[in-house]
Amino acid sequence: MLTMKFGGTSVGDVPRLLEVVSIVKQFLNEQPVVVASAMSGVTNTLLETARKAVERKTGEVHNAVNALRDKQLHIAHELVKDNRRRAALIKEQQASIDELSQLYYGIGLLKELSPRSLDAIASFGEILSCRQIAAILEENGIKSKFVDARTIIRTDNNFGEAAIDFSYSNGAINAGISPIVRQGIVPIVTGFIASTDDGITTTIGRSGSDYTGSIVGAAVNSKEIWIWTDVDGVMTADPRVVKSARVLSEISYREAAEMSYFGAKVIHPKTMVPAIEKKIPIRIKNTFNPTHPGTLISASATANGHSAKTVTSIDDLAIIAIEGSGMIGVPGVSARIFSALARAQVNVMMISQASSEHNVCFIVPKKDSKESVKVLRDEFSVDIAKKIIDDVSVKEPVSIIAVVGEGMIGTKGIAGKTFDAVAKADVNIIAIAQGSSELNISFVVEQTNAKKAVQSVHDAFYK
Ligand code: ADP
Ligand code: ASP
Ligand code: MG
Repeated sequence: MLTMKFGGTSVGDVPRLLEVVSIVKQFLNEQPVVVASAMSGVTNTLLETARKAVERKTGEVHNAVNALRDKQLHIAHELVKDNRRRAALIKEQQASIDELSQLYYGIGLLKELSPRSLDAIASFGEILSCRQIAAILEENGIKSKFVDARTIIRTDNNFGEAAIDFSYSNGAINAGISPIVRQGIVPIVTGFIASTDDGITTTIGRSGSDYTGSIVGAAVNSKEIWIWTDVDGVMTADPRVVKSARVLSEISYREAAEMSYFGAKVIHPKTMVPAIEKKIPIRIKNTFNPTHPGTLISASATANGHSAKTVTSIDDLAIIAIEGSGMIGVPGVSARIFSALARAQVNVMMISQASSEHNVCFIVPKKDSKESVKVLRDEFSVDIAKKIIDDVSVKEPVSIIAVVGEGMIGTKGIAGKTFDAVAKADVNIIAIAQGSSELNISFVVEQTNAKKAVQSVHDAFYK
């Protein structure tokens, strides 16, 4: 089997959908399993509309639902010419859109929008998209079947970012998918969505369809997992930030995980997890340029002659610092900081502590900064009163910039070259962290300086 995940842009309009047909046709002998995203922009629209629904902006909600209905009708009329097949598709899409409309209405009535409701609403993007792909493939003579991932992928109830129950899901995916494939039918599985054991819809994190692709690919023992997107592969930097960024022909799982965690949006950071266990290679490919070999992600990527392979950045972060001379030598300060943040369910993305122990600082998403400061001031209220701790301070918005590459391990001078380049760009570094893996050097700058720092560091390594 060959699992192929198609991203939002790759299923986003009539020409792209025709390209999907052509790609699937080309690889029919490989027994393809398709995983697909919502059409590009749809998930955002669904969620924005939910926020309008809760404010009872009924006119705007109505318009958004109608626009979505028109989009589906347009695709059905353009790409499904067989009358019966088109009527069946339109009927099902209509039923989903009616259900969505009722959910919006319910949200308005209750004036309540929980993460659980948001997941229920977001799920319609993948459902509409995959159902339409299945019909379009059938229309083109390819036997295919829509598969709602909620029937085969089980998660916990952490709505918005639910964790996969692999012990249940691996068996269920295999039992749900493999027999279809054996009959010569192409399953079209919804990315991003899943359900709890009591059947409540969940989502596995924004951009999570890549992750679904590898969950499904690993469960069915796929030969490879291909992620079809809108660029030729993983690049040395975000091509929107660095015009001279180049495509990497190979990277390791560790490099891919590290760079995507630090902002390379081309692949979801969790995608590597299921693939690593079974050593299934992942390939990033471009639906706009399908003959390009793309980027191969595997256990053993050969070096490309560059010790540092990629420069990435993440925006919209806050740096929080706890300072105080009284902290020196006091055991348990870090434990208290991170327990307090864990209780508030704040994800700490990076930690930096000066060796003097006088200052501990860490990075959290900007949206969590207020809550983080509040829980920390509560936790350390006595210490603040006793002047053991000066205060908890915040600086935002900041960005983390990360330089990643396995070739950096044991190579001297990488940090020097990196920070030299940042200095050349006249950018001030607020904090630095290097994990003991040496695979990654990351540092924090003011968000307004992030782009020029990325550009300068990239230039230093890729002259
Ligand atoms: P999809 O809808 O196919 O999942 P995404 O928009 O999630 O696609 O990811 C692809 C985009 O990621 C590219 O269009 C590119 O702009 C962006 N991107 C950011 N960093 C990188 C990188 N290092 N290499 C390649 N693309 C990157
Ligand atoms: N449609 C989902 C999102 O926009 C998942 C994905 O595209 O990967 O986040
Ligand atoms: Mg994506």
